[in-house]
Amino acid sequence: MKKELVGLSKADLQQEMLALGEKPFRAKQLWHWIYNKGKTNFADMTTLAKPFREELDTLYTVSHPKIITEQNSVDGTRKWLMEFADGKQVECVYIPEADRGAVCISTQVGCAQGCKFCHTGTQRMMRNLTAGEIVGQFMSARDSYGEWPTPTDETRYLSNIVVMGMGEPLCNFENLKTALLIAMDGDGLAISKRRITVSTSGVANHIPELADLGVKLAVSLHAPNNEIRDKIMPVNRKFPLEVLIEACKEYQRRCERRQFITMEYVLLKDINDQPKHAEELMKLVDGLEVKFNLIPFHSWEGAPFEASSNNAIHRFSKILESNWFAAPVRRSRGEDIMAACGQLKSAKGTDGTVSRTQRPTNESTEK
Ligand code: SF4
Repeated sequence: MKKELVGLSKADLQQEMLALGEKPFRAKQLWHWIYNKGKTNFADMTTLAKPFREELDTLYTVSHPKIITEQNSVDGTRKWLMEFADGKQVECVYIPEADRGAVCISTQVGCAQGCKFCHTGTQRMMRNLTAGEIVGQFMSARDSYGEWPTPTDETRYLSNIVVMGMGEPLCNFENLKTALLIAMDGDGLAISKRRITVSTSGVANHIPELADLGVKLAVSLHAPNNEIRDKIMPVNRKFPLEVLIEACKEYQRRCERRQFITMEYVLLKDINDQPKHAEELMKLVDGLEVKFNLIPFHSWEGAPFEASSNNAIHRFSKILESNWFAAPVRRSRGEDIMAACGQLKSAKGTDGTVSRTQRPTNESTEK
């Protein structure tokens, strides 16, 4: 079986070339073709000698996840169903803003975290994605927009990566790290680390390491105390709030420069949406620099919660904002193509069945 080159670190690619008896600069050339030019066919890599291209073709593949379907929203959101070599699928969304746009990518097929407000959490965890499959989602998105070779930072359309799709990124940390280092590399995809955000449900042990990578952090907080969080997010039993908050403090200590943490907060009727919860929340984050992102709950059939009323949501936001916290209520994107948070469905579920998911999808999604 041929070996996949997408997802190998720069050092590993160099090792591969050395093992073939090639000079290290061959790895550099290949890297450029794969990640700057976006080529998947060795025959197109014309700076390499023909016999070498033919040899590569017998040993390796360069592949991007296959785009099965593509849908476009009137607001510019684009959603893809992507498939990996073994037939497993994830959805991927591009969310445009005025001068940039973020591609939301996944790190696992299914999720083991079991957050009670998330339909993905009711789907069986199938497997971790490889580093190549993680970064490959962004590359397929670029294929879709024809954004090759890598444009300058100012002119590109797909400028940001948000790791907020299916799965818990920090439960697949090594592959995530390799994928992000590939995405950041200036000779290839060249996504600035400042334009990458990783969202976690609260797997605290790896949070400080995100500061070492230089990427932004979003935390799916969703509760102001352990009692509520234990009920809606099982991860809290392993990493209770005091451990999570300490990890966030360590993340901010390690960051090179001032870095706000986005605290995601899905509002659930009578569970966590009362004024006393807002007060408690502000005390909880004391000592951290945070901004809140308030998320209206999108219900699904059989969901154990109801959405908070608009009044309750705005009352909650007002309490935080009157205490100098940024606390916008997230607006939905791509509703007409079911790409808004909680509206995504997978054509083929993780177990191969047709199902609906409440899957985090965009920059402000719930994890
Ligand atoms: S919110 Fe995120 S971490 Fe929680 S179950 Fe859903 S996909 Fe998993």
